Amino acid sequence: MVLKVLAIVVVLILVYIFFFKKSRESEITGNKKHEIEDELVECPTCKTYVSSKESILSNGKYYCSKECLLNK
Ligand SMILES: [Zn+2]
Repeated sequence: MVLKVLAIVVVLILVYIFFFKKSRESEITGNKKHEIEDELVECPTCKTYVSSKESILSNGKYYCSKECLLNK
């Protein structure tokens, strides 16, 4: 009887670890996907390439900094 309970507990722990690992893996792949989506865009003011993630979007154009956005 005790062994049966122990076996159930072990199975539950294994299931928990399996799902926990899977969710963490999908989190990592999700981050990787986001990195691929991040692309280089040209700043129309200083012609410097910046990643779209770090740039400032204004009127459909990506600016590398606030200065470039104001001096367009
Ligand atoms: Zn710029």
